[in-house]
Amino acid sequence: MTGLSDSFQRPINYLRVSVTDRCNLRCVYCMPTSGIHLISHEDILTYEEIHSIIKAAAELGISKVRITGGEPLVRSGLSRLVEMIAQTSAIDDISLTTNGILLSRYAAELKSAGLRRVNVSLDTLKPDKFKLISRGQSNLEDVFKGIEAARSAGLNPVKLNMVVMAGVNDDELVDFAAKTINEEWHVRFIELMPVVGEGNTASQLVSVAEMRRRIETLGKLEPCLPSVGNGPAKYFRFSQSKGTVGFITPVSEHFCFQCSRLRLTADGKLRLCLLSSDEVDLRGPLRRGIPSAGLKDLIKEAVARKPLRHHLTEGHVPKDRPFCQVGG
Ligand code: SAM
Repeated sequence: MTGLSDSFQRPINYLRVSVTDRCNLRCVYCMPTSGIHLISHEDILTYEEIHSIIKAAAELGISKVRITGGEPLVRSGLSRLVEMIAQTSAIDDISLTTNGILLSRYAAELKSAGLRRVNVSLDTLKPDKFKLISRGQSNLEDVFKGIEAARSAGLNPVKLNMVVMAGVNDDELVDFAAKTINEEWHVRFIELMPVVGEGNTASQLVSVAEMRRRIETLGKLEPCLPSVGNGPAKYFRFSQSKGTVGFITPVSEHFCFQCSRLRLTADGKLRLCLLSSDEVDLRGPLRRGIPSAGLKDLIKEAVARKPLRHHLTEGHVPKDRPFCQVGG
């Protein structure tokens, strides 16, 4: 294995795989009010096709895979894919990002298939607000059951991602942080990215500096190292607390200089940056029978095109795909 790095000498070892563009929620910060144009079923990669891409990427140096969506758990038989990935030599970490609604049903079988850990999106602790944010009829209670099932199955640490929105859920910052004191909650507060392009998202941004100011009314936060993963979050804890508080700052302090990621969309495009529309098609060549060596050349070509950074703060938001179809 040679190891992959891009033209800015960043090591690339992490692939995020969106297995579907379907989602059972319609979160206001992620999906446009008008909904999305769904990818047709025949254009979505089969598990075998995803596995071929992962095998080629692993031979080049990818060692970590995160499964995302849409909502990945709405795709049937996901454990079969996890099992295929787990059997791929050189892949040493498989994780999942989910909204948790279906997690209690699948946590144990995903763990047996080889999944290591999960991140669950949890934007509020209040059932009514959950319905408002997710524009749906799903129950917050199901998410809590999912989190518990993941913990019992050993998918640890379960990280909880909260997208913080002023006037929507920022009044719960302290409640979430307080949960980390006596329970093993690993909460990550994420700055809202203005990707949906509706409403006044810019004014809904709560900077991490402001989040910290409010949270530290509970006590001083001390820096700590993440227990697992090497992502962009910066971790803290209150002295003696069981859990951790993380901050992710895509807007106020981008972390592109340490980006190690590639993204595979559900329809088989390798996307080089979450916030850039440049993509390399893998599905077409794969369906025309390209050998693994050719696939690897395409992946290397994509990596070489990875941009230095996103330009969100200058107002550049890609228009080609809604965020919910890239997978975060
Ligand atoms: N359905 C899964 C879920 O809910 O976690 C996976 C897909 S979702 C797009 C992945 C992540 O993107 C979630 O943690 C979500 O909170 C985050 N996300 C979506 N829109 C965002 C935005 N506008 N700003 C910041 N994070 C966002």
